[in-house]
Amino acid sequence: MKYERELHTALAAVFAASRLSERVRAGIPLAMEKSDKSPVTVADFGSQALICKALWEAFPGDMIVAEEDAAALNRPEMAHHLLNVTRHVGEQAPGTTPDQVIAWIDRGKGVVAPRYWTLDPIDGTKGFLRGDQYAVALALIEDGDVKVGVLGCPAMATEKGEPGVIYAAVRGEGAFMRPLAGGASNPLRVAPSGDLENMRFVESVESSHGDQERQNRIARAVGISLPPLRMDSQVKYGVLASGKALLYLRVPSPAAPDYREKIWDHAAGSIIVEEAGGRTSDMHGRPLNFTAATMEDNRGVIAGNGVIHDRVLAALAGEIEGHPV
Ligand code: AMP
Ligand code: MG
Repeated sequence: MKYERELHTALAAVFAASRLSERVRAGIPLAMEKSDKSPVTVADFGSQALICKALWEAFPGDMIVAEEDAAALNRPEMAHHLLNVTRHVGEQAPGTTPDQVIAWIDRGKGVVAPRYWTLDPIDGTKGFLRGDQYAVALALIEDGDVKVGVLGCPAMATEKGEPGVIYAAVRGEGAFMRPLAGGASNPLRVAPSGDLENMRFVESVESSHGDQERQNRIARAVGISLPPLRMDSQVKYGVLASGKALLYLRVPSPAAPDYREKIWDHAAGSIIVEEAGGRTSDMHGRPLNFTAATMEDNRGVIAGNGVIHDRVLAALAGEIEGHPV
């Protein structure tokens, strides 16, 4: 299989980071505040350190574009937080020092290159802190095309109802899920559109991350009448890829009309949906652009099977209700 070593490395790294994250969460994590006022925790830094370490060792020439910056942690007043991160990383990688933690997190300051990885060490930090869903999200991109995607979802239930799922995909090889704790892999397939009245759409929990009223109008215009399933993070893409929801809607929030999506919030999830037979684009039908860290020419995200995806774009263009929804 193509990208076998990349997939293997990514799965192992995401597994270790997921374990670290759940260990942090068991201890009631403290939120620190970033310069943009968004929360960050010991788990965000620890997860990024572990994954960058693994990628650095396996693929020393690869760039990594990750969400967190070690500068926020490498200040005298943050010393106790750094020690706490080091202790958690040391549980997964014995003998780790604070200097190594900083150096590994710093590996995530790479730039977009012909081949690079993108990482959201804790996607959905607000969900993580609330005790809800979150994901450890890692993807490999070559020439702007996502080739490998892995989502560690420690709070997602398996088919047997046990906590912890990993979703993954390799371009051209399909998508699969398996229990985080180990076990058989199951192939993923998006739901067909036949059963509209029993299907739901997924959207963010955070009303400031999308336009929930408009998303509701779009869903109704394409024939979905059940209330949305609200979940944090790229877990939404996993739920869609496994056929448990029909559609993922994310249109810009009126509170932040100029917001531009980040590659690490969509790269892993989008390949998992595509390899499960689904389609992704922005709200204008433009392909998601992974050639820069910020997705400047995209607005929002629409994902689902090809039929529902086309219908949503038609509704947004005013072709269903006679006016744009
Ligand atoms: P979700 O749980 O789907 O809302 O995704 C969480 C991600 O939303 C975070 O990682 C942020 O990078 C991203 N985010 C932050 N602000 C916004 C916004 N105004 N619109 C869309 N996404 C945002
Ligand atoms: Mg995120």
